[in-house]
Amino acid sequence: MTAHEGGCHCRQVRFRAAGAPKFVSRCHCESCRRTTGGAFSTWVGFPADAVEWTAGAPVFYASSMGVKRGFCRSCGTPLSYESDRWPGERHFLIGVFDEPKAFTPTSDYMKEEALAWALH
Ligand SMILES: [Zn+2]
Ligand SMILES: [Zn+2]
Repeated sequence: MTAHEGGCHCRQVRFRAAGAPKFVSRCHCESCRRTTGGAFSTWVGFPADAVEWTAGAPVFYASSMGVKRGFCRSCGTPLSYESDRWPGERHFLIGVFDEPKAFTPTSDYMKEEALAWALH
């Protein structure tokens, strides 16, 4: 089975996701914008049981109720997202994969909060 590996910039936190993602999608919400610093975020979603932390562990920030955003406590890289809204899933930012070219986003989420130039 294909495994996708990734981690933070300082390499203290590493993960592996097995198999194909459930989705690859851009999110334009303000919460993603603020917590990543990017104009929009591109998320790769996996079943939570297909994912393991292989080195270190993230710390989590609750940007909203029921939401856990994982980041590296050492270098600050935002890594993951979990929400009660999508139980059993863990989403990773595309830029933290070792091979981000493996994924292509196929949809845009929360377009109503998008910066106009970021939609196409
Ligand atoms: Zn780090
Ligand atoms: Zn978002």
